[in-house]
Amino acid sequence: MNQDAKTRSQRAVRQLLESWQRSGVTSVRKLDPAELESLVTASVVEPVPEIPVQAVEPATATPIPQPLNVPQPQVSAMTEEPAQESDQARKEMSVPRTTKSKMNKGDRQAELDIIATQVSKCRKCPELAETRTQTVFGVGNPSAKIMFIGEAPGADEDKLGEPFVGRAGKLLDKIIEACQMKRSEIYIANILRCRPPGNRNPTDQEASNCRGFLDAQIEIVDPDYIVCWGSVAAKNLLHSDLPIGKMRGDFYEYGRAKVVCTYHPSYLLRNPSAKKNVWDDMIFLFADMGIDLKAQG
Ligand code: URA
Repeated sequence: MNQDAKTRSQRAVRQLLESWQRSGVTSVRKLDPAELESLVTASVVEPVPEIPVQAVEPATATPIPQPLNVPQPQVSAMTEEPAQESDQARKEMSVPRTTKSKMNKGDRQAELDIIATQVSKCRKCPELAETRTQTVFGVGNPSAKIMFIGEAPGADEDKLGEPFVGRAGKLLDKIIEACQMKRSEIYIANILRCRPPGNRNPTDQEASNCRGFLDAQIEIVDPDYIVCWGSVAAKNLLHSDLPIGKMRGDFYEYGRAKVVCTYHPSYLLRNPSAKKNVWDDMIFLFADMGIDLKAQG
């Protein structure tokens, strides 16, 4: 085996052992080199209890270099490679942060760009990959205090490669303006990064396939607040089955962020009377930041 292949196989074995440990296995039988190599190439191997895991070679002692210095909740959604975490990332994950990560804006953008490149090549949802014009990653301030999460790109977004640029997006812009903010101050993404044909709702599988990307975006931007626009965003982010009307008016937690759920702008286009409710939700969110939107007129 050449050095590269050896390193790859060591890494694969280490990951395999870690995944067994995560699922509760504490010991395995010692393997001879031939078995070890076939284990690396075969993806499913049943562990046989005997010798402590630590005694099984060849686990590498050095951390595996990571393109990102953030934890990647579902890396398998981003690449076909098995998940890996650097020691630093593991440390960061074990200590919940209460304040925004210290990363500067440029580094955040660079990390988002890496993920965006992975997204552009993603073919995990064959139907979406086949029918999309392009992927729609996310846009806005990589250090935003507030992140918006919508459902999925529509026809306009699919054409332009940016979230919320169609009719619903124009209404969203008005809401942002009413909150005395600029679109460029917020980070905007969706549950899906590809347009579902005919604008159908994302399937659970599609949402789950795309989740690693969303979690990476949240981790990098590290917003204080997230707004879920509509039930698809709320249900998928928070794993809740409550109707959006019941989720409004409370803060939920997602990592470090406080989450507000409100009606989707497309719903507002069909039901303009619900704009008042959305405005109340914005007042609720901004009040928590110490900003009185009512006083701003
Ligand atoms: N609706 C969404 O939920 N997201 C978009 O990006 C556009 C419309």
